[in-house]
Amino acid sequence: MADAPPRKQEVDESAATFAPRAAELETTTPSGPPEASSPPPTTVSPGTSQVVDRPTDRNLAVAMGRGLLGRCPNCGRGAMFRAYLSVNSRCPVCGEDLSGERADDAPAFLTLLVACLVGCAGVLLSDESSAQTSILAVALFWLVVTAVASLLVLPRIKGAVVGYQWALRMHGFGGARGR
Ligand SMILES: [Zn+2]
Repeated sequence: MADAPPRKQEVDESAATFAPRAAELETTTPSGPPEASSPPPTTVSPGTSQVVDRPTDRNLAVAMGRGLLGRCPNCGRGAMFRAYLSVNSRCPVCGEDLSGERADDAPAFLTLLVACLVGCAGVLLSDESSAQTSILAVALFWLVVTAVASLLVLPRIKGAVVGYQWALRMHGFGGARGR
């Protein structure tokens, strides 16, 4: 009979030691679900809400066309690039902030796609048209053409990608910073 109270105390002590852990769990789990529950609505809907919630006054085709020409997507007069592929942080004419661009590898990927199509089509066409020319000469010719075309096309595609991001207020062009 005398052993019963100490056991209860032990149980209480063990409960007391578990209590902080439970409290920790409670503090971690409540913070977990809100964080986990709030992003899904924002991550599921952003794809559509970015387009729907932000009806933009920026014309996508015009912005991409200006970017394609290496011009500022906002005014179409200032130069977008200060070097071969380096985008000006601000348009020298209208002062539009262009530092928000995040073209990354997209221009290189798209250029590779275009260059491969051009090179493959060229090799196939020359193979059909002139069967007597050596395949080595044909390959070398189209290799050079593809390389030169890639270098010419890359900044233009990058300009179009930056224009696309600017028009849709993506990345650094969006929100309070874009306006
Ligand atoms: Zn401009």
